[in-house]
Amino acid sequence: MISRCRIVIKGTVQGVGFRPFVYRLAGMYNINGSVLNSSRGVIIEAEGEEGMVQAFINMIKENPPALSEINSFQVSELPPAGFTCFEILKSSHDQTSEALIPPDVGTCPACAGEILDPKDRHYRYPFTNCTNCGPRFTIIEKIPYDRLKTSMKTFSMCSYCGAEYNNPLDRRFHAQPVACPACGPGVRTTDNKGEQAAEDKNWLEFAWSALGKGKVFALKSLGGFHLTCDAHNADAVKSLRIRKGRQAKPFAVMCKDMDTVRKYYHVNNDENKLLLSPQAPIVILKKREHFGLPEELAPKLNTMGVMLPYTPLHLLIFSGPFDILVMTSGNYSELPLVIKNENAIDELSAIADYFLFHNREIVNRCDDSLIQILDGEVSFFRRSRGYTPQPILIMRKKNSPVVVGIGGEMKNSFCILKQNQAFMSQYIGEIDTIEGEKNLFDSFANFQRLIGAKPEIVAYDAHPDYASSYMARKVPAENYVEVQHHHAHLASCMAENNLDNEDIIGVILDGTGYGIDGNIWGFEVFKGSYTGFERMFHLAYVPLPGGEIAIRQPWRTAYSYLATFLGNRGKEHAGEIFADRDINIVEQLIASSFNSPLSCGCGRLFDAVSAMLGVCHENTYEGQAAIELGEIALKASESILKASYSYTVTGDTILPGEMLEGIIEDKFAGVPAEAISVKFHNTLVNIICDAAVRISARTGIKKVVLSGGTWHNEYLFKTTVKALRRERFQVCFHRQVPTNDGGIALGQAMIAHWRLKDVKGRK
Ligand SMILES: [Zn+2]
Ligand SMILES: [Zn+2]
Ligand SMILES: [Zn+2]
Repeated sequence: MISRCRIVIKGTVQGVGFRPFVYRLAGMYNINGSVLNSSRGVIIEAEGEEGMVQAFINMIKENPPALSEINSFQVSELPPAGFTCFEILKSSHDQTSEALIPPDVGTCPACAGEILDPKDRHYRYPFTNCTNCGPRFTIIEKIPYDRLKTSMKTFSMCSYCGAEYNNPLDRRFHAQPVACPACGPGVRTTDNKGEQAAEDKNWLEFAWSALGKGKVFALKSLGGFHLTCDAHNADAVKSLRIRKGRQAKPFAVMCKDMDTVRKYYHVNNDENKLLLSPQAPIVILKKREHFGLPEELAPKLNTMGVMLPYTPLHLLIFSGPFDILVMTSGNYSELPLVIKNENAIDELSAIADYFLFHNREIVNRCDDSLIQILDGEVSFFRRSRGYTPQPILIMRKKNSPVVVGIGGEMKNSFCILKQNQAFMSQYIGEIDTIEGEKNLFDSFANFQRLIGAKPEIVAYDAHPDYASSYMARKVPAENYVEVQHHHAHLASCMAENNLDNEDIIGVILDGTGYGIDGNIWGFEVFKGSYTGFERMFHLAYVPLPGGEIAIRQPWRTAYSYLATFLGNRGKEHAGEIFADRDINIVEQLIASSFNSPLSCGCGRLFDAVSAMLGVCHENTYEGQAAIELGEIALKASESILKASYSYTVTGDTILPGEMLEGIIEDKFAGVPAEAISVKFHNTLVNIICDAAVRISARTGIKKVVLSGGTWHNEYLFKTTVKALRRERFQVCFHRQVPTNDGGIALGQAMIAHWRLKDVKGRK
């Protein structure tokens, strides 16, 4: 019997080889009909023998193309129409856009093979791609995803590329950015004044020779420019640091292949898999004991970010004499990544000696994603290239309003809730500069167009002076919702763990967030849900003498901690430890309460302990003192792993006086900093566990969510999760969005959704 079905598939199904896959299957099962990309997703008409149609549908469901992600699969039966063949129809354009834009994909092995094969027409061609790999999000202007709506629209395909593009059985069938040396984008090298540096055909040899001489290149990659130099050359790395204004923050590196990665770094199975994944993120790895590369790459740290080549351009550079190159973002510290050729020389000529340009425009800026494997779990520092704009599925009804969370002030990433999907933007970064603000504004406009969503509710941080809050109010919408920073952290973690609006315990540890009492919060144990929170416990406040300066100079915070909790004895200790610092100024600031905001940020407590132990006196990048203190805890000997200090809880306030006393005592008794660091970490674990147990005893709640930047700390994370599980808590943490401020937009949006859902009369 002949039957006919219409199948509508939604999710990431465009630009991932879905139509050729369906076309081939139709041939195998004798199916007539059609397949087409619409802005609602892929629509298939299938007519044939009943059993064959069923088998065809099952095959699509069970073995879809590797890069696709199906969110919904609807089949409806229709009367037979008498189709006589199976065809791929032209994209349809209708109003609703539910089709998802695929993220960028690292070069596939087949394309990598072609660019290194002298007999292939893609030999040495840096823009080779196919349905399984290549640029996507970074080149898309509009939906549905079609070449004419990407920055490839200015290149018309040659007859060879056209033949591959039109052949349903070819790997390049309907691969929108398909290109070859005869028809696609090209490469150009210049010096830092914009003068041509080498003949175009010799770009690769020129790059090898200049890198070999220790020169710095600004290299146009997929989502923006990179700055690159030979990672073996300490002088080159040093001069890159000086020119970029980056004192100690580790540089990311790119390695030729996995053998090279293993030569310099420890790699476990999870890290190996992540490095080789199509998303090709930067993965944080531990250096080998005999690292053999310059200390300047990641001063004082045992870990740094490593990635593999993910574009043909990178692969070609690594086909020369280098096995490892610094590959850091092309910008001055804290400014957005440069993406336009016309700005690159202006903006980067003081850093780079040479430029490697290409003429395929980057439409959407997209930084490299940065991930750490923590206790076998993926933990994002930065969720961007390779992941954006893939949505995260959340618990929400389909007719819910479109909600925007604008995100925080640092590590900004905004979020758009549409139906039951949360679209996190690419990494936007710092937005308290004119450039940063423009970046947020432009990216938001582009993103909104690509998602096809008109905001109804906009949520933002409660901090009165944040640029993001000001910008949020400029987004046209019906309602605006202010959200407390740490409540947003809590809700973000609840949302990605698919928790319903139920009361849970939230342990939110980070550096800075505006509290509802006007002080700076950051060591918070909440009882809360999407609709509200109660602050059950928090660390006692200390003044930060000098405000922002104290954040840059942790010794100031250390002084404040010692003086606040140990009085005159503490001041004496501080005088001894920080003899070379201008203690009088700090003392006066605290005494007069001038420019000394009160803070209970966990990051500040780490700063203080790090400075007391002489681990780090200056934060030259965000979190430096805390990161260095966290890393040495991992080096401590087995015998100390159970030890900790005492502390007191009065009412809702955690008092660290006894712990500080213990730390000072140990320090003067010559206990190594590694051991003190472990005892300090263990004390925090005890504080957190005790607080959770007390709340649970009162309320019966057995779920704990962990959020906030401090949870990047490996020792603290592992030990706390273990301790809470021992107390039979269900522990939820971040796996899909960053635990740092890069994830709060999701929480802001979810809170706004829940607060207004009754106002809107729908759920
Ligand atoms: Zn490919
Ligand atoms: Zn071509
Ligand atoms: Zn935060």
